Amino acid sequence: MRDANFLAENNARHIWHPMAHPAEMQASPPRVIMKGEGVHVTDVDGRTVLDAVGGLWNVNLGYSCDPIKQAIARQLDALPYYSGFRGTSTGPSIELAWELAQWFEPEGMTRAFFTSGGSDSVETALRLARQYWKIRGQGDRVKFLALKKGYHGTHFGGASVNGNANFRRNYEPLMPGVFHIPAPYAYRNPFDETDPERLARLCARALEDEIAFQGADTVAAFIMEPVLGAGGVVVPHPSFMTLVREICDRHDILLIADEVVTGFGRAGEWAGSRIAKVKPDMMTIAKAITSGYFPLGATLIGGRVAEVFEADRTSFGAIGHGYTYSGHPVGCAAGLAALAETRRLDLARNAAARGEELASVLEALKVKHALVGDVRYKGLMAALELVSDRTTRKAAGKAVMTAVADAAYEAGVMLRVSGSNIILSPPLVLTPKDVRTIGEALDAGLAAA
Ligand code: PMP
Repeated sequence: MRDANFLAENNARHIWHPMAHPAEMQASPPRVIMKGEGVHVTDVDGRTVLDAVGGLWNVNLGYSCDPIKQAIARQLDALPYYSGFRGTSTGPSIELAWELAQWFEPEGMTRAFFTSGGSDSVETALRLARQYWKIRGQGDRVKFLALKKGYHGTHFGGASVNGNANFRRNYEPLMPGVFHIPAPYAYRNPFDETDPERLARLCARALEDEIAFQGADTVAAFIMEPVLGAGGVVVPHPSFMTLVREICDRHDILLIADEVVTGFGRAGEWAGSRIAKVKPDMMTIAKAITSGYFPLGATLIGGRVAEVFEADRTSFGAIGHGYTYSGHPVGCAAGLAALAETRRLDLARNAAARGEELASVLEALKVKHALVGDVRYKGLMAALELVSDRTTRKAAGKAVMTAVADAAYEAGVMLRVSGSNIILSPPLVLTPKDVRTIGEALDAGLAAA
């Protein structure tokens, strides 16, 4: 391995990083992470910190999960790759599809279309939604509805349903036929409604209005995250998803739940949709499916959609879509091991319990620091929204955000800054002591800023 100087110099020279300005990488180089153990990571300077980001919402089992490492090694030995295109399949992909059908049985998911990550899974769901309507002879149903502040990855379809302007402008024109409604975000919304349940009703009504305006017979699907992640951990009142399901049913519109973040216990339930006991028509998953040890995702398909495809006798039913790495046997072996460990350690329950502790820590920080405008949390996904003025709710500037994160790092905890939000998504194997460590570092960070 090259030394720290080589890495620092050549990072900006040769890597363009996701979600970063290439020129900025010279001025503020990223931390080079060299090692991970338990819930900690160590950088190139030998500094070890608690990873309150959990990789990127994905390393639910922490960095030392031997069963996943061994499963990967065994599968590399037996068969490092084979394709899942028509004509061939592999053992681990079949077993994992079976496992996912058990895991998401309450959501009614029975089929898996494997992908290499979350953006692929979203793209697949959008394509299958359009195809579903073509098979049913309703080819005009091509539009998608989505939430402002939603995040659905970076392919053109996903970027088009994304509801954050920062990810859209530079890549326009995006896919036509996509329309957004306000998110049930109590701290800031066009209705000035702070009560989560009333806000859920207002946003649901906005969805119904948009459907009426577009014409239900032109809408293929509505896509939403059960808890919005990258948009700043916006936690809808549980009645919101129930209302959305009712509206979709009334207008015969497919409901796609983007569970890339919420999929395997992060929000304190095995699925985000389970919080509201909603059965979506399709679900997108990725990230924690392998705890981040191997790139893998899937689009899960429920009975209603599966039946239409499988009963199809038109020319529309064959799936003209797929990835070289759909059902990668090493990824699927990693997935099987990760899911077994996740279940054995009952991580959804730990996420809920540690989440409650984290919630009281965050509420106390909000009382103590005027910089904290709002705190939001569900299970082990949380955000602190920082403001320069509590009355006007003016968002905190970049310098403040960086100062908080840097001071917290000095105090031993890695945080993630996204706009004016500090995002927390630590590994789900977190202990009560780890929660206290995160709280102390946040306190130090906020005090320093
Ligand atoms: N959907 C959601 C809800 C996500 O949070 C993300 C990634 N953060 C994606 C899709 C895209 O996943 P990926 O980055 O693996 O392509």
